[in-house]
Amino acid sequence: MAKMTASERIMMSAMGKEPDRVPVFGIFNDWAWGQLYGRNHMLDYCQDAEKWAKVMVWTCKEMGGDSAVALPDVHPLAEAICEASGLPSPSISWKDFPRTDAHSLYEGDLVNDPAYGNPIIKTMKDAEKLKPADPYKHGRLPVLLKSIELANKELKGDWPVGGMVENALSVGGGLMGWTPMFMAMEKNIALWKKVEDVAIKSSWAFAKAQKKVGAVFAVSHTELPARVGSESFLANPTWMQADWPPELYKRIPEELGLGIAVHACTTGPNEPGIDAWKTMVNHTASFFCAESGGADSLARIKEALAPASVMGNIHPVDIMLHGTPDDVEDACIELIKKCGPGGRFQLGPGCTYSLDVPYENVKAMVDSCEKYGKYPINL
Ligand SMILES: [Zn+2]
Repeated sequence: MAKMTASERIMMSAMGKEPDRVPVFGIFNDWAWGQLYGRNHMLDYCQDAEKWAKVMVWTCKEMGGDSAVALPDVHPLAEAICEASGLPSPSISWKDFPRTDAHSLYEGDLVNDPAYGNPIIKTMKDAEKLKPADPYKHGRLPVLLKSIELANKELKGDWPVGGMVENALSVGGGLMGWTPMFMAMEKNIALWKKVEDVAIKSSWAFAKAQKKVGAVFAVSHTELPARVGSESFLANPTWMQADWPPELYKRIPEELGLGIAVHACTTGPNEPGIDAWKTMVNHTASFFCAESGGADSLARIKEALAPASVMGNIHPVDIMLHGTPDDVEDACIELIKKCGPGGRFQLGPGCTYSLDVPYENVKAMVDSCEKYGKYPINL
């Protein structure tokens, strides 16, 4: 088969057809930033559109990834809402973030402060101060928009460029803390609705602006199953609706034509909650589920969520960080063999990984697609 562009490869795979080879994602921006500018140089992380766009272009052209995404971490929207509302930033900024060990990025220490510390929004009086973020004005949103535009110019549509769409629960968790947020949903629904309304309005405006500058997909991450457990996730439709409000997630693919890739930010198991995942699939044109849980688990999820695609799920710590390039290659072979046939699969890690992951391991992941991922798969 003739050489395809990354955009053609991903599109064909998403349609359930076999392209030239399995597409690869997962050269994360924080890791790539560390590679390009030095791993201790995070002071201006995602503050400069040109530097940020260069990271996105490098992941495609130099590292061999099949997509670029303007996704720095999970805070831009909550930060922007706080700036719009004249409130202090809810998250620890990168320059103050102590990387105590290689595991800490993966475990999301960045969210611990708003989640367990002193949340910005505690009462209705606090929530009344909230104003939706303007994507052209507040926080890092203008940097992200500019970087999508710059990367797109450079990549010329040969690689798909994506952005981010934050769901209401992630934004709410950042503003209120997770436990108080769930308590508000049960006991003070007016408070939750106020936060949700601002989150949805901000997310919609940002999605629209990203589409305008050339994003073709957006990553949305959900922490819900990880926070409450798969069984509770399944048993509480209210929570799911809040995490995946149809008024937002139905409209984004339908009205903006922006494909959504949902990242299940959890080490699983996700399978007990698969029926809940299916209800989310119904709300969107494209659904991707990445998790750590092994190739067999991902293959079963792929079957259950058809015709949606799956992405994943090399273990970010056990394999990407602590493994050798041979270990990475073994994990890739197993995933390609079990999840590759028939398309609807992109190879990558289950979640973002540490800045300490060796270059050779990321390279081994990308190279595995060329070496073992050519269709038809013969492993
Ligand atoms: Zn994650």
